[in-house]
Amino acid sequence: MTWEERWHPLRGEWVIVAAHRQDRPWSGDTVQTEQPELSEYVPDCYLCPGNSRVSGQVNPAYEQIFVFDNDHPSVAMDAPKSDAPPSSVYSARPATGISRVVCYTPKHNLTLTELEQPEIVNLMSTWSEQYLLLSQHREINHVLIFENKGTAVGVSNPHPHCQIYANNFVFKTIENEARASRKYFEENARILFQDVIKAEQQDGRRIIAENDSAIAFLPYFARYAYEVFVAPKETHSSVATLSSQEIDDFADVLKRVLVKFDNLWKMPFPYVMPLDRAPTDGGDYGSFHFHIEFHPPLRKPNLLKYLAGPEIGGGNFLSDTAPEEKAAELRALSDIHYKQEAKS
Ligand SMILES: [Zn+2]
Ligand SMILES: [Zn+2]
Repeated sequence: MTWEERWHPLRGEWVIVAAHRQDRPWSGDTVQTEQPELSEYVPDCYLCPGNSRVSGQVNPAYEQIFVFDNDHPSVAMDAPKSDAPPSSVYSARPATGISRVVCYTPKHNLTLTELEQPEIVNLMSTWSEQYLLLSQHREINHVLIFENKGTAVGVSNPHPHCQIYANNFVFKTIENEARASRKYFEENARILFQDVIKAEQQDGRRIIAENDSAIAFLPYFARYAYEVFVAPKETHSSVATLSSQEIDDFADVLKRVLVKFDNLWKMPFPYVMPLDRAPTDGGDYGSFHFHIEFHPPLRKPNLLKYLAGPEIGGGNFLSDTAPEEKAAELRALSDIHYKQEAKS
C-alpha cells in the first residue's frame, strides 16, 4: 500500500499518492466499453478522403497523411481585435495563431495504435515538419501538438487524427517544464529529464518499453493511473532533431506502449497525448528534453479519474493508484495487439 507525497520534478509540485483507498465503494458514472465495428470509409465523416468539410472544402483522395487548417480554429492569424480595452486589472488581445488537423491515415477505422511502425515514422516526420514550419512565424511562440482519443475525452469522431495549436504564447505545462529544466541545469549542470530516465532505469519497475535510444516509463510521480512518458534517451529540444535511427527506435517504443494500452482492457484505450517540446519564442532551451506524455482518463475500464477538489480546487493531483502496480500491469501485457492475436 502506497500512501505518500511524491515530488513531480518537471512540474515542480507534489502529487499525493493515496493508493490505500483504491477499492473504496463507488457508485458514480461509468464509461461504455462496448465498441461498435467501424468501416474503413464513412460518407459523412469530415476527415475521410473525398468528403467535404463544414468550410465547403473537399478533402483530397489522400493515401497517407493529410494536414489541413482547422475549419473551427481556436486561434487564427486573422483573429478579431477586441473592441474596447477592458478596465483596470483585465487585459485582452487577439487569439493569434494557426490551428491545424493532421489525419494519420485515410482509414476511418484505424487508430494510432494499429498503424504499422513505418507509418508512425512518417507521422513523426510530419510532426517535425509542422513544428519547424509553424515556428518560423514571428508571431508563433509555441507549437502544441496533441491527440485526444476516445469519447472519454470528448472526441466524437474516431477517425485517427491529432491537432496542432500554434500560438502566440507558451502553454503553462511547457513553461513549467522549461523553467524546471533550466533551473536544474543551472544548479546541477545536468539535464533534469536525463536524471529522471536514470532514476527510472535504476529502479526498473516502472519501465514499460525500451530499446537502444528510446524509453517509455510510467513515472514515479505519475498523476494519472496509466500515465506513460515516451522519450529519446539523448536530449533533443524537439522531435525535429532526432536522427532517423532515433525516430525508428522512438516509433518502436511508442507502438509497444500503444498496443499494451489497448491490450489492457481489450478496447481502444482513450488518452490525451501531448508532444512536449521546447517553445519557439527564441529562448534558450538546451536543457529541454523532448517527450510524449500519455494522460489516460480511465482508472478502470468503466471508471473515469474525476478531477475534483484537490485537482481543480487545489491544483495538485491526488492519485488513487501506486505507479509501481499500474506499471506492473502494463509490463505484463503482450506487445501483440489483441485484434491481431484474435486473427492468428
Ligand atoms: Zn473518417
Ligand atoms: Zn512533459
